[in-house]
Amino acid sequence: MAPPDPALLSLNTATVRAQWNLRQMIEGCARHGIRGISPWRDKLAEYGAKEAKRMIDANGLTVTGLCRGGMFPAADARGRKAAIEDNLRAIDDAAVLGAHCLVLVVGGMPQGSKDLAGAREMVRDGIGTVLDHARGAGVPLAIEPLHPMYAADRACVNTLGQALDLCDELDGRASGALGVAVDVYHVWWDPELARQIERAGEKRILAFHICDWLVPTTDLLLDRGMMGDGVIDIPLIRSWVERAGYRGFHEVEIFSANNWWRRDADEVLAMCKERHQSAS
Ligand code: ZN
Repeated sequence: MAPPDPALLSLNTATVRAQWNLRQMIEGCARHGIRGISPWRDKLAEYGAKEAKRMIDANGLTVTGLCRGGMFPAADARGRKAAIEDNLRAIDDAAVLGAHCLVLVVGGMPQGSKDLAGAREMVRDGIGTVLDHARGAGVPLAIEPLHPMYAADRACVNTLGQALDLCDELDGRASGALGVAVDVYHVWWDPELARQIERAGEKRILAFHICDWLVPTTDLLLDRGMMGDGVIDIPLIRSWVERAGYRGFHEVEIFSANNWWRRDADEVLAMCKERHQSAS
């Protein structure tokens, strides 16, 4: 497997969120020759979407995604309505940024609930409710299936196949308005992965997120590894998304409270560049 095109590297702001604000991240990407950026909304809120867009354009970066919308299930109608309104705001911000997609972390079960099927229905209904607004704004929605360890509290969509079933149901003609984010951390274990990536195809793969699965993993959320430090065959999975027609960015997204968030952020970016070439 030949190394990837270095121009396809993108920085998800989660990777250095402990060290830098959004302006520092944008300038850091420009300094290191990283051409894509994918902000989380907490970082976007530091400047607002318009000012962020101005800074991103001034540094010649592409916004490969906005993280995140979703979190649709709630215990009552008021909570679900608030979630819809929050998603509409996220879509508008993504439009201002010219983001390639809005990533959806769809949400788990409402507190106290054991109704997993019901939560999944709320997710389907929630995405269905905001899809027209997203289409009108020109912002594709990318459903990100999360590893099943998050099914209760973060995302009850847990496999690529399940995410694609939602796409089929809500956007059967594959218009490009709804697709998936393939994050190797969440889907690497799935015996169906190769087949589901092929099924997704070029039209439905909207983002490709990379990092690594460490053995042992010491925290369910905040112990992701740098590419090459764990057990995921990232070049193999990249070969599958490329065979499916995906030509977009490779977004490094590393939540790492005890390692990468404690290092100098310039060192982290330099390592992202190196491992993108040697282990992705
Ligand atoms: Zn991701």
